[in-house]
Amino acid sequence: MSEFYRKPKEEIMNILGVSDGGLNDEEVLKQRGKYGFNELEEAKKKSAIQIFFDQFKDFLVIILLVAATISAFLGKLESTIVILIVVTINAILGTIQHIKAEQSLNSLKALSSPTAKVLRNGVKIEIPSREILVGDILYLDAGDYVSADGRVIETYSLQINESSLTGESESVNKEIETIDKDNITIGDRKNMVFSGSFVTYGRGVILVTDIGMKTEIGKIANLLESTKEKKTPLQVSLDNFGKKLAIAIIAISAVIFALDIFRGYPIIDSFMFAVALAVAAIPEALSSIVTIVLALGTQKLAKLNAIVRKLHAVESLGSISVICSDKTGTLTQNKMTVKKVFVDDRIINHDNLQYHKEIEKKLVIMALLCNDAVTTENKEIGDPTEVALVNLGEEYNLDELVVRKEHPRIAEIPFDSDRKLMSTVNKIDDKTLMITKGALDVLLSRSTSIETANGVKPLLEEHKKEIEDINRQLSTDGLRVLAFASKDVEENETINLDYEKDLCFIGLIAMMDPPREESKDAVANCISAGIKPVMITGDHKITASAIAKQIGILKNESEAMEGFELEKISDEELKSKVAEISVYARVSPEHKIRIVRAWQERGNVVAMTGDGVNDAPALKQADIGIAMGITGTEVAKDAAAMVLTDDNFSTIVKAISNGRSIYANIKNSIKFLLSGNTAGIISVIYASLTALPVPFAPVHLLFINLLTDSLPAIAIGLEPHNQNIMKEKPRDINVPILNKEFAIEVALEGFLIALGTIIAFHIGLSTGDNVVASTMAFSTLCLSRLFHGFNCRSKESIFRIGVFSNQFVWFSLIIGFLLLVAVLMINPLMQVFEVARLTLTQYGYICGLSVMPLVVVQLYKLIFIRK
Ligand code: ATP
Repeated sequence: MSEFYRKPKEEIMNILGVSDGGLNDEEVLKQRGKYGFNELEEAKKKSAIQIFFDQFKDFLVIILLVAATISAFLGKLESTIVILIVVTINAILGTIQHIKAEQSLNSLKALSSPTAKVLRNGVKIEIPSREILVGDILYLDAGDYVSADGRVIETYSLQINESSLTGESESVNKEIETIDKDNITIGDRKNMVFSGSFVTYGRGVILVTDIGMKTEIGKIANLLESTKEKKTPLQVSLDNFGKKLAIAIIAISAVIFALDIFRGYPIIDSFMFAVALAVAAIPEALSSIVTIVLALGTQKLAKLNAIVRKLHAVESLGSISVICSDKTGTLTQNKMTVKKVFVDDRIINHDNLQYHKEIEKKLVIMALLCNDAVTTENKEIGDPTEVALVNLGEEYNLDELVVRKEHPRIAEIPFDSDRKLMSTVNKIDDKTLMITKGALDVLLSRSTSIETANGVKPLLEEHKKEIEDINRQLSTDGLRVLAFASKDVEENETINLDYEKDLCFIGLIAMMDPPREESKDAVANCISAGIKPVMITGDHKITASAIAKQIGILKNESEAMEGFELEKISDEELKSKVAEISVYARVSPEHKIRIVRAWQERGNVVAMTGDGVNDAPALKQADIGIAMGITGTEVAKDAAAMVLTDDNFSTIVKAISNGRSIYANIKNSIKFLLSGNTAGIISVIYASLTALPVPFAPVHLLFINLLTDSLPAIAIGLEPHNQNIMKEKPRDINVPILNKEFAIEVALEGFLIALGTIIAFHIGLSTGDNVVASTMAFSTLCLSRLFHGFNCRSKESIFRIGVFSNQFVWFSLIIGFLLLVAVLMINPLMQVFEVARLTLTQYGYICGLSVMPLVVVQLYKLIFIRK
């Protein structure tokens, strides 16, 4: 049915069986049955079985499988079986974690899935885009994604970016007239809109003609790749680390193997040493634990109203050193009330509003006409600035709908934040009047006359100065000032941007948008955390500075800069100046991208908020683009890495604080796993170099690495959020997690655990029974690693952060301990794990030696680490 562009609205409505009120409930059911949902089919998702087999593709697992095969050839069948069992358990755990992480990410995506505004049963409602049906009447505003194909039936300067379909980056002006041509390309179908494009300007009404796979994009797109999350920088660096580690292990194992053969040991024993070493070193649980901690972290952030759309954001949050935030709605409440009106050379206070003169009424009527907001008893729909004007009308007993009916709108030029103006053309009695409202500086420069109670006069320089003074006065109190002007036009003229000049200024309306209560504390929190908060706003410099001062962003007037000043300086100059500027006023979205870049070039990690369609490039340029969930457009949300469901600046600060914790917890988990493995490696190498028997069977090490170590690692990842983390400076994003300092700590703590293990091994060897010795070495290694979980909870001593403040670690200790007891005491298990029954004294040694690293590390932290 691609010929809809040739048909007029009425004919299409007939074909689709739609009435002016849109689809009704009955038709919705019918259409749903006929067309289904508006979605593109996704490529088939991987099944659980596929995910399970994917786990065996891991390089380290492959090494284990090779070891298992060689063991089998050498006749060590028990080892082979145990390795296979453990690798299988590992794969099952990996599969469960993969599916869980995917589910949690999908549920996050569902939270920020797109919506659409449609007319159903005669009422405009918002529905999830997937519920759009053929025949729906769809409303499009600037910043909306077009989520179905349709015929344009009304347009108010509607412009659409169709680059995803046509490759053309310029926006297309949409029209309603039929096009009487054959087979024209998508780009030429000016009276149609297509799914996958977005509204860059204006607004329009669409009659939906095709949905889902029937849309043009559905026809050309191959099946969508199933939503696949790219690996985060941390995951990538861990993968690389894993690969390097594997190579190192193979090399060391080979050397040890060669050394033993050279010494004349039997091949089997030498090989078992090499296998034990490989198994000891491979941190099997590492990557799945990082994934699971990241996934749990995103869930926690979602509860705090920050929806993470790109997983890498969770990691970068902790490195943010600059937050560039919008003012209106993010730092302020976005609840505006008119405080003052300036007209006919006098300022009228809010508590004294009445018809002083006819001209005052005229200004208020203009404010209601050049306005799209509607209020009912319990609902306010529309831009808060315009809602405030509607409420002002109520004070004058003027109902917006009545006024708008009396003076119908003929045309409009929508508001946009680049131009900072909005105009409508209305019929007023027998005249046709264009009403323009917007930022005073812009509007005044386009005005040539002024309306007073005594008629229209030319606008002289002295008038301009006086009005600017009034504006300054109002702005200094933190009021947001809107200016109003008008112009007579011919009834049938089609107006465009060129008409917004030679205006007749009439007055100002000043409104208050108080800062959010939490903003002040959040700003203070930022500053103490070494993060620079920057306000970027389209509002007037004086208003912005007044609010910025109240909440602590700005100390000195010289820290504020205006958009036009920004335009005058080069990128280089901006880079050198940017650190001194805390407030950017009267900026347009293009300026935002320069500000982000300037900060980034100074080596900062920048978060930037945005809501409009023009903010998308800056949101993408920022290290973390943050879109507003309530007021943000779909395009902005799509470009962002994070969406705030409450539009609140303090949520960003909370997210950063939690992001820092999540990163610290991941780092601690990794440290726990690697230090434990280091202990295993040191013990094996020690035994090999000193010509002692192998201290552990591979199964011992697999038991520890996979079972008893996994739980504490996750428990450490769940360490509660510590407020002190906001007293530190942001983490340097260029310093890798596995740096020298970290490696030294891992090595030292690993050495301590190895020391206890080796002593236990020697005590065991002194009985003359190698099985007793290896049982003691294994038990000590296992138990001390469980205790070591407490050491890895924080940089600080557990006595400072609270011994019981992370119950998960206690829980993991108890479970791990019970598992160990089971292996040591229950007969069939004892055989599988090749352990001997020990004496009470020997158990005593194991416990004592296992607690040793905990005691030493805690004493060290108590004495040397003071916060
Ligand atoms: P922020 O950028 O912090 O969200 P803002 O809402 O002031 O702040 P814009 O929406 O870009 O930024 O508005 C810029 C200016 O345009 C405002 O200061 C005001 O003068 C004017 N303005 C805002 N809304 C409207 C509107 N609906 N109609 C006409 N002019 C408007």
